[in-house]
Amino acid sequence: MARVGFIGLGNMGGGMAANLAKAGHDVRAFDLSADALDKARAAGCLPVASAREAAEGAEAIVTMLPAGTHVEQVYRESVFDAAPPSAVLIDSSTIDVATARRVAEAATARGLLAVDAPVSGGIAAANAGTLTFMVGGSDAAVAEAKPFLDAMAKSVFHVGASGAGQAVKMCNNLVLASTMIATCEAFALAEKLGLDPQAFYDVGSVSTAQSWSMTSYCPVPGVGPESPADRGYQGGFATALMLKDLRLAMAAAADAGADVPMGTRARELYEVFADAGEGATDFSGIIKTFSQASPD
Ligand code: NAD
Repeated sequence: MARVGFIGLGNMGGGMAANLAKAGHDVRAFDLSADALDKARAAGCLPVASAREAAEGAEAIVTMLPAGTHVEQVYRESVFDAAPPSAVLIDSSTIDVATARRVAEAATARGLLAVDAPVSGGIAAANAGTLTFMVGGSDAAVAEAKPFLDAMAKSVFHVGASGAGQAVKMCNNLVLASTMIATCEAFALAEKLGLDPQAFYDVGSVSTAQSWSMTSYCPVPGVGPESPADRGYQGGFATALMLKDLRLAMAAAADAGADVPMGTRARELYEVFADAGEGATDFSGIIKTFSQASPD
């Protein structure tokens, strides 16, 4: 088994690092949060004092950070200098395609291998080791990364060159934002029509209203499998992060000349929700917007 550096032990990274440790790897884990480090220790990782220390001597270095600026900073200030030659850098954060390509090129110039490997599945899949990875990079880099990804994954897809994983992830989350909002507005309407939300779920989850947003991550407390709705919309996938992803998708669509009307509206709605002080709330909490709205 190998030594793995893991940087960013938040809602997603905590479970992912734990699964690498469970697979027998020697995981050197770093986060700015002392609480996250304590949880990593309890999960079988060795907490270290810096990103540099996590990278030293590691065969693979996984980053699970909020955005591209964090990844670029951690790579340039710590990882590039500390990683042993031929280590593979696996960035699983959701970031913009341009930054993903830039850091991969900088890594390659230093003799390191690098992949962008964002994920789908949410915290339940991160904890269970059943994430879907969409991976961009060279065949050689993906081959090196694969055994480490397998310890955290249900599926690993090599989707193209550097940045391609982030492009797939951006399109995936464009769909996710729209299905979540559609699911929320439908549950709010069902309630106003006097329906029991469970009755709507029972039918919708096995008919054409079905999506991951309804079936696996239902925004209504007490309905469907356990989800952030059952924890007051805490933890999960922060609204601020969904908004970040939608902004990345809008910028990419503008560059590519693509028409994205649903994504544009989703971004507007998430902007209003975040501006109301809900940036740290799970993105399914946007149902409150529709539940509270009173008919004119
Ligand atoms: P999070 O905010 O819970 O975790 C990020 C962690 O990074 C925090 O613990 C923070 O302390 C740490 N961090 C920030 N800067 C750091 C630094 N310089 N050095 C070390 N640690 C640092 O976020 P999350 O929900 O785990 O998401 C992480 C990434 O995964 C994001 O890019 C997000 O878009 C993506 N993602 C999240 C989900 C989800 O359901 N939460 C699903 C798929 C993808």
